[in-house]
Amino acid sequence: MATHRIRTRTLEPAEARLGCIDFSSNDYLGLANHPVLLQSAENAIARYGIGSTGSRLLSGDRAEFHQLESEFAAFKAHEAALFFNSGYHANVGVIPVLAGPGDAVFADRLVHASMIDGIRLSGARFFRYRHNEVSHLESLLAQHRGAFQKAWILTESVFSMEGDRAPLSELVRVKTNWDCGLMVDEAHATGLMGATGAGLVEAAGLSGQVDVVMSTFSKALGSVGAGVACSQALKDRLINQCRSLIYSTVLPPLLAAVNRSALQWVSETADAAQARIYVQEIAQYLRDQVRSHTAFSTLGSTQIVPILISKDESETMKASAALRTKGLIVSAIRPPTVPPGTSRLRVSVTAQHTPATIDQLVQVLGECL
Ligand SMILES: *Cc1c(COP(=O)(O)O)cnc(C)c1O
Repeated sequence: MATHRIRTRTLEPAEARLGCIDFSSNDYLGLANHPVLLQSAENAIARYGIGSTGSRLLSGDRAEFHQLESEFAAFKAHEAALFFNSGYHANVGVIPVLAGPGDAVFADRLVHASMIDGIRLSGARFFRYRHNEVSHLESLLAQHRGAFQKAWILTESVFSMEGDRAPLSELVRVKTNWDCGLMVDEAHATGLMGATGAGLVEAAGLSGQVDVVMSTFSKALGSVGAGVACSQALKDRLINQCRSLIYSTVLPPLLAAVNRSALQWVSETADAAQARIYVQEIAQYLRDQVRSHTAFSTLGSTQIVPILISKDESETMKASAALRTKGLIVSAIRPPTVPPGTSRLRVSVTAQHTPATIDQLVQVLGECL
């Protein structure tokens, strides 16, 4: 019988982590404190002040948001784009505009909680297919697609807790065959994958073939906010119907300016292109070291390196705590964020890690377990 367990969560200010090596941050390219972003924020603050004073639909709109949106649309090779306060706002707001009662959503079993919440809010029938199993998706479509007017397929491109990649070209084929829309969440691929850092859609040569692409500015772009790339027609509908856009004060315009600088840095500089390659190399180095020096296995093939310690959740928690006493910050991820029995240490590798810091992590991991 399942017992109800109360889970305590705790908070800890980053200052308390000073002097530690952080393997839990999503600041993959080290942009959060980059001089280019700091300078951009300083210039923008002088121009705009702090508050945006209202929703985009009331007093909050500024030319800076429109400029960001057209640059983001070009970055993603889409007709249009809309800026959101966060990835969470984007997913919970956009999905109920795409689908409603009488429609169906087919989502990968491991999509992010913000997508799940969006699906729930939409009132659409919700089908989950086994992680990255296109054959399971197709069998669900064969069984149920006919009963619904509209259907959407939802996936992440790089999965936040698995560190693996969605089979995007197959999903594009399936969505075409079954007359569905396809929405891809590129939170963990934007900035890191593709020739200009646009994400896995770009890397897979599928730019323009995915109906809706959501990307956050809060991970590799080192800032906050999100962009949704789509058609002009969908953008118009979102402006009129999307509740998380309409009923929330937009982020400060200074963040639009900062996000434009981050986009430009990521897509145009040689430093960014080098950092993308380096991050994947150092992630591979970590995987190789973990496999050859410990009894643990790893998942995925990206900058997110999940390390499986034990099926037992408490062992994983203990490992995280032991690493912490040695000054290494590694998050333990447990149910319900991941399926039962798959608790893991989630290491995120960034451009600021060196082979020496990776060696240190692997050594301590081997010692404390
Ligand atoms: C982080 C994340 C989000 C939410 O983005 P925020 O900007 O942090 O709200 C959405 N989807 C995925 C896959 C994420 O990892």
